[in-house]
Amino acid sequence: MEKRTEVIVIGGGISGCAVAYYLAKRGAQVILLEKGQIADEASGRTWGAVRRQGRQAAEVPLAIESLKLWDNLSEELGSETHFIRGGNLLLAVTDKELVEFEETVKITKELGLESDIVTWEKAQEIVPGLSGRFMGGMYSPSDGYAHPVKTTTAFARAAQENGAKIHTRCAVEKIEASNGRVTGVVTEAGHRIEADVIVNAAGVWAPRLAGTCGVRIPLRVIRTHVTITEPQPDYQAPLVWTPRVAFRPTVDGNILLGAGAAARFDHDIDLNSLRDLRYFWQGFKQFRKKMQLHIGTKLLNDILSHVPGTTQNQRYFASTVGVEPEVNWDTIRQMREAFFEYMPQMRGLRFVKTWAGLIDLTPDILPVLGEAPGVKGLILATGFSGHGFALGPITGRLISEIVLDGKPSLPLDDFRLARFKEKGVGAIRRLQ
Ligand SMILES: Cc1cc2nc3c(=O)[nH]c(=O)nc-3n(C[C@H](O)[C@H](O)[C@H](O)COP(=O)(O)OP(=O)(O)OC[C@H]3O[C@@H](n4cnc5c(N)ncnc54)[C@H](O)[C@@H]3O)c2cc1C
Repeated sequence: MEKRTEVIVIGGGISGCAVAYYLAKRGAQVILLEKGQIADEASGRTWGAVRRQGRQAAEVPLAIESLKLWDNLSEELGSETHFIRGGNLLLAVTDKELVEFEETVKITKELGLESDIVTWEKAQEIVPGLSGRFMGGMYSPSDGYAHPVKTTTAFARAAQENGAKIHTRCAVEKIEASNGRVTGVVTEAGHRIEADVIVNAAGVWAPRLAGTCGVRIPLRVIRTHVTITEPQPDYQAPLVWTPRVAFRPTVDGNILLGAGAAARFDHDIDLNSLRDLRYFWQGFKQFRKKMQLHIGTKLLNDILSHVPGTTQNQRYFASTVGVEPEVNWDTIRQMREAFFEYMPQMRGLRFVKTWAGLIDLTPDILPVLGEAPGVKGLILATGFSGHGFALGPITGRLISEIVLDGKPSLPLDDFRLARFKEKGVGAIRRLQ
């Protein structure tokens, strides 16, 4: 294995693979290290929505720019991402929600989005067979969705074709720094690779990894779910969001279901759960009714990682490979029930696959992008809070610009790690 390189990227999800691609394309010497396989975690488990609608205002410019990259991504990478502008429809259950949608459309039009209010009758035209009691919706015909695994591996392959080296089954156990700047990493096999720039794109593991060189990222991990029907090839429609379930067709003809905006989500208590509570307090108050807390193996593994001689203590990150997030079957049942209620003609369809995935939630539900304060050369790309798949291409390009040009072509002030300390966290207002 190499002893030195210009840039080490940690994490083979869409963020890390896109960073490696855009860096390698511009001639940088890059090594990407992934503890499992490419797209093993969030990037291989996402619903694959590529949307601008329903984001906070700060994120909208990134989402707009990313969507432009998505349009030509398959050609650019030389592999199919199956991105289509299939549309994105948010349905309102109450009149109050519809009024909020109307206000949002006014704001988002100024930000450059193409969302519009649609009546319930129009929504039923857009989604054949849609039933229920909705007041109308907010519709963006030009948002879309893509194939999560194929997109992430397409970035990885294109990065390699441009000269990047990728090592899978190779966990980074420590980021080394000295005199306020990174010097390299140590892998699970004890191998040391030196580099002046290290990109931490390790998803939900990014805070613990950053902690090995003294950087603290406030983040909570939540679990969310996907369940997929058998193929239903004639069903063509946008991604539909209701408070209880979201659903969209996949390229293979199956229908993918995710938990809706009002569905409950799971948090596995660990030693980090009470950390940085001052930043999470606002979100906790806002979303506490939706949270389901669990005590189990996550806490046990965290405790074991502090016991000398255990695998978790010696190779913490390697010990997390292949641990499948637990499925909450109550949530799955509720998602399926809601889907059949809104799409009654689909009743009787069998479900062929179900999984859970982990989300890296920051206190303000916005990502952390940029150099870590106090450790020169450590670049963070994490905390996407459940919407980082769509942002993958722009994340890759902007982080490569930080590394190679010293600054990104879009302002990233709202995403600095230091914002939490400087400003605290107020109420979270999504534009929906
Ligand atoms: C069920 C679900 C649905 C979602 N739906 C959407 C959606 O519709 N639209 C959207 O935009 N986003 C969605 N998201 C969020 C989106 O999937 C993530 O924001 C995005 O994939 C994050 O990509 P990433 O590369 O930052 O992280 P990840 O994909 O998690 O990749 C991080 C990688 O780092 C590796 N790693 C970690 N630690 C180490 C280490 N120490 N050494 C080496 N490697 C390491 C991990 O193994 C992992 O492969 C969803 C997420 C989930 C779970």
